[in-house]
Amino acid sequence: MELGGLHHMTAVTTNAAENVAFYTDVLGLRLVKKTVNQDDVSAYHLFYGDEVGNPGTEITFFDWPHLRVAPNHPGAGEVSTTELRIPDRAALDWWTARFQDLGVDNSGIEEGKDRTYLDFTDPEGQRLRLSADEGEGAQGGVPWEESPVPREMGIRGLGAVDLTVRELEPTAWVLNEVLGFRKVGERTNGESQRVTFEVGAGGPGTTVRVVEKPDAPWTHLGRGGVHHIAFRTPDDEEHAAWRERIRRSGLGVTPQIDRYYFRSIYFREPGGVLFEIATDGPGFATDEDAAHLGERLSLPPFLEERREEIEAGLDPITVEGGTARS
Ligand code: ZN
Repeated sequence: MELGGLHHMTAVTTNAAENVAFYTDVLGLRLVKKTVNQDDVSAYHLFYGDEVGNPGTEITFFDWPHLRVAPNHPGAGEVSTTELRIPDRAALDWWTARFQDLGVDNSGIEEGKDRTYLDFTDPEGQRLRLSADEGEGAQGGVPWEESPVPREMGIRGLGAVDLTVRELEPTAWVLNEVLGFRKVGERTNGESQRVTFEVGAGGPGTTVRVVEKPDAPWTHLGRGGVHHIAFRTPDDEEHAAWRERIRRSGLGVTPQIDRYYFRSIYFREPGGVLFEIATDGPGFATDEDAAHLGERLSLPPFLEERREEIEAGLDPITVEGGTARS
């Protein structure tokens, strides 16, 4: 039994319309699902991904407008950077010019030890990175044909995440002993130690870096912060086995929850980051035609009878000149 790498990342926005505009028009992702937070139906839950939102390509947002005045406080116990995969250096040059044209805050191209990358932020300060995967790692996604970004430059999914914690060992233990990640690299930079883990195929799509910062303040989730990170498992049988394994390790874990597009279990690792394991299926075309994903508000069956009330409680999302309209 082995995890298949990263499944999705879920973060916080406070402005759904601006969020849709950035992730579709600027980053060229497809809005594959527009639904509500099952635990708070007054909030949108927006899903972006490749042409059908394949597992490993999804970035999702809870829209929590009440956090508009509460920016995320970076610190220990959070996903501190989310890395997105693009094909190569030529694509990175193309994105640099695009970000310049569109006024997207970015660091300029940096040459890392393993990869060439570009750090940038979305309009709410979400910490993101484009990284040239050079065709390595787990199978990447397929960018949407109707994206404003040419397919050969397109984002092909999640590459890696950085977790910042105060103490390396407990988080490393969960990744290694409980979840089966392999330690593949380590380096020390001043006060902070950074250890790289991979699972399954290894490389982009499967990488978790743990950054130890003993003196970091605890993070406080807000606008532009990450809520949780999810890992992939192929089916319900392995999902149940993972749940049992996590439970036996002494970590508290939720029962399996049906999210309709996949099924989920959640647990908090000792460094403070919320982890999820999600099934690869059934996927986003389960309640909509693949040609029309994300165009209307999708509701799981148990909320369908409340559609009128739920729609009345949501601000319509209108994106000028966008690829996604409400
Ligand atoms: Zn999730």
